[in-house]
Amino acid sequence: MIDLHCHLRNNIPGHTKIAADSGIDVVLYMANSTPPLDSLRRIKNSLKKKRYCRAIPVSAITKDLAGKELVEINKIKPYVAGFSDDGKYLENLNLLKEILKKGVLVLAHCSPPYEIGLKRPDLETKFVKRYLGVLKKVGGKLHIQHVSKKETVELIRKAKRQGIKITCETCPHYFTYTKEDLDTKVNPPLGTKADVLAIKEGLKDGTIDAISSDYAPRPRITGIAGFKSFIPLSYGLVLEGVLSKKQLKEKLFTNPRRIIESGGYKLNIKY
Ligand SMILES: [Zn+2]
Repeated sequence: MIDLHCHLRNNIPGHTKIAADSGIDVVLYMANSTPPLDSLRRIKNSLKKKRYCRAIPVSAITKDLAGKELVEINKIKPYVAGFSDDGKYLENLNLLKEILKKGVLVLAHCSPPYEIGLKRPDLETKFVKRYLGVLKKVGGKLHIQHVSKKETVELIRKAKRQGIKITCETCPHYFTYTKEDLDTKVNPPLGTKADVLAIKEGLKDGTIDAISSDYAPRPRITGIAGFKSFIPLSYGLVLEGVLSKKQLKEKLFTNPRRIIESGGYKLNIKY
């Protein structure tokens, strides 16, 4: 099992223990520790920490995740699975252009801050559309994180049909709960029934390549963005008849592996 998206903050041993106990073999962890993973020194330091499953860092795209200045991509590249300012939408499209041109894997958080996203669920699609425009011009390896809205699934489906090379993920909470089901803070916010159905449809027809946990350790209602619920909720798709077991394996292993290796990182997993 490969989880393309989690947050280990400043406790890599503790959180990877939970991942391992939950049956997850490989996790990619985002850069928003304190301080953030935005330099080679910090990334090397992070790699020295004890871990209970394979945990590969994702570098920040910009220094201090501030969206202003790119990190030293060439130096950092060999040590990370990809680059992401996850948690923050990178508004500067010139920086996005520059990093995409390097051919590294860019994992993109295309949602506004939580409070804004609640009022403007359409912004996710709008932001993905902007990024698609850049991708069409410069090419590169672009992966959209935690797709949560129907219109975003439709947009990515259309792009893929036009032959644009883009990948994306969703998380178990976006195909399990609507905003009416749970009053909880998760970014992007939970959607409507139509969103949940569209996410399932996107997983089924291959528009959505992977499922990730977006594990973010902070007090939350059990079952949201967790390692422990990651595999059970994903397996629910098989029980519901949305995915076959083979398709589920694609979402939790084959496609995540392909996505990671598309940016040049070698997983060397024997299977
Ligand atoms: Zn995110």
